[in-house]
Amino acid sequence: MQLMLLGLPGAGKGTQAERITSDYGVPHISTGDMFRKAIAAGTDLGNEVKAYLDSGRLVPDELTIRVVRDRLEQPDAQEGFLLDGFPRTLPQAEALDETLAAMGRRLDCVLYIHVPQEVLLARLTGRRICKSCGATYHVVFQPPAVAGVCDKCHGELYQRSDDTEEAVATRLEQYAQTAPLVDYYRDRGLLRQVDGQRSIDDVYADIRGILSDIRA
Ligand code: ADP
Ligand code: ADP
Ligand code: ZN
Repeated sequence: MQLMLLGLPGAGKGTQAERITSDYGVPHISTGDMFRKAIAAGTDLGNEVKAYLDSGRLVPDELTIRVVRDRLEQPDAQEGFLLDGFPRTLPQAEALDETLAAMGRRLDCVLYIHVPQEVLLARLTGRRICKSCGATYHVVFQPPAVAGVCDKCHGELYQRSDDTEEAVATRLEQYAQTAPLVDYYRDRGLLRQVDGQRSIDDVYADIRGILSDIRA
């Protein structure tokens, strides 16, 4: 299956991606995670993108597209993938279409997790991530059993440097570049909308229903 998650920052893409990848065995391709790893490792890519992530602005298309193209060529992505956080602009969506077409592949489905903007600030400022395995938590909505410690691997939880009110405001402004993708994929018959303002389990139940539809 060749899937994509679309939605505002904080809509729940990463949270649902953890479940989808573990149940369906498709690799999770998150441009945000890839950029954060590069920054942590101090690579050239990391140095190039750091200022964008810190402020909440989008990384330039050309660079982002190059990173995703390389990732889609890796052996583990040949049977399927779950894109999360890419594409985020129309040029990125067009580049993805071209890349997949050149590989003789296409997207099966775009899962659009819809939430009203009012819920996002609380979700993002309470978000915590595991330093070791990348699992997502929330201090109130999805707390770990022991505060600050990952349930899955006992790694240390941290707060992303862009989950501050200021950077969140910038990211919501930047979403104006992503919003047109809803129509782009609806026009192509690929969009499946999910109501993201419910419990994590309920949202996932809807996603499972959609995925069993497209596999049938
Ligand atoms: P969230 O889901 O909370 O919005 P992500 O982890 O997807 O966050 O992205 C974090 C940051 O990484 C973005 O604010 C942006 O700076 C950069 N980024 C991630 N994906 C893209 C992309 N497709 N195009 C440009 N920048 C991106
Ligand atoms: P995204 O990847 O779309 O930016 P995340 O999956 O990281 O979003 O979720 C943002 C925050 O909201 C996380 O702290 C997560 O634990 C929490 N969260 C995710 N889904 C829900 C939900 N359905 N209800 C309440 N909180 C949620
Ligand atoms: Zn962990």
